[in-house]
Amino acid sequence: MLDTAIVGGGLCGLAIASGLAARGESFALFEARPRLGGRILSSDVATPGLAIDLGPTWYWPDTQPRIARLIADLGLTPFAQPDGETVLHLKDPNAQPDTLSAGPVHAGARRVSGGFGTVIAALARRLPRETLHFGHVLMAVVDRLDHVELHFLRGYEPVVVKARSVVLAVPPRLLEERVSFAPALAAPLRQILRDTPTWMAGSAKAVCGFERPFWRDAGHTGNAFATHPQAVLGEVFDASDEPAARAALGGFVTLPVALRESFKAGLPMLVRSQLVQLFGRSAERSTPHVHDWATETYTCSTLDHTPPDGHPEYGNRALRLSHWNDKLYFGSSETASYGGGYMEGALEAAGRILKELALDRALTTH
Ligand SMILES: Cc1cc2nc3c(=O)[nH]c(=O)nc-3n(C[C@H](O)[C@H](O)[C@H](O)COP(=O)(O)OP(=O)(O)OC[C@H]3O[C@@H](n4cnc5c(N)ncnc54)[C@H](O)[C@@H]3O)c2cc1C
Repeated sequence: MLDTAIVGGGLCGLAIASGLAARGESFALFEARPRLGGRILSSDVATPGLAIDLGPTWYWPDTQPRIARLIADLGLTPFAQPDGETVLHLKDPNAQPDTLSAGPVHAGARRVSGGFGTVIAALARRLPRETLHFGHVLMAVVDRLDHVELHFLRGYEPVVVKARSVVLAVPPRLLEERVSFAPALAAPLRQILRDTPTWMAGSAKAVCGFERPFWRDAGHTGNAFATHPQAVLGEVFDASDEPAARAALGGFVTLPVALRESFKAGLPMLVRSQLVQLFGRSAERSTPHVHDWATETYTCSTLDHTPPDGHPEYGNRALRLSHWNDKLYFGSSETASYGGGYMEGALEAAGRILKELALDRALTTH
């Protein structure tokens, strides 16, 4: 029997696994997808050789010490988000954008050279290969009093895993929607799981690669907002790497989930035409890639198709407590009392769970 089974190979699950590995404890990590990282995904699909973040792009070192420290510990190279003093504002679909003096839009945000996928790869390198189990979709969790049973589907094959402690580093809403618990979780706890939005799960990002950051020649920062009702991108930013040897623009799609589905085939063309309106004809030279997180089964629950108004208050106490006599823990950024929803929160949640697991071990071995 395993000491600890971790379900979910996003940043939270991987940080817990890396902490347990450093303490020499026995554990295994089970992940539904064939890859690690969860919402963290860097890909060079838009520009060969330039890994662009299709999930998280930024961290803020002034207020997010955990992710800043992890990046430093892993020896990765951070750089400042290319920003500037101006931002374009497109408020009329039939007019040129206005140039506003807004100051740096991203408030001291940092990126990681090579994208946040490098954080995931570096954490994975710290783990013995045999501890990682891909393609394991958690279906049920059963309390067997002195241990917990996890029921997975690997393809069509059922797999049962027994562990003394179980960490579910999976966003709360996905657990409530897709996983059964025996005995059933209390109704108020289920309601809390349901009421906890998965941050950014219903969003879609567009990225567009270019040979060079041509918008800088015209004095543009790459930052833009579009506020008219027909806009497809609400916010645009410079997604180039640090030396801008390879250039890219990124943006957040404003269309709601259902419209994105019906406009799927034409969406890249609509994105391109908005970029042309903002930055001129040079923006025609690229085919945008749209990554729609709402279509990702292991990120987006049905409730997450409707995004919350603003950033939710995360870290409900019930999600931070252990359950089933200290055998069951809820992880994921959405359980964090600090930085909830962000990568910082995923690390805060991991730190909390690592402390609790250490305490449990100390109590059971003395
Ligand atoms: C488009 C976008 C932009 C973002 N921008 C930023 C940003 O700029 N800065 C920032 O700090 N944060 C940002 N975020 C949020 C950030 O990505 C998350 O806070 C962080 O990645 C959460 O990590 P996690 O491990 O808690 O959850 P996840 O990354 O969601 O990991 C959960 C894991 O559980 C797995 N899983 C799910 N269901 C099952 C199942 N049934 N069985 C087994 N495994 C399962 C998933 O495959 C996944 O690997 C953004 C997110 C998105 C999508």
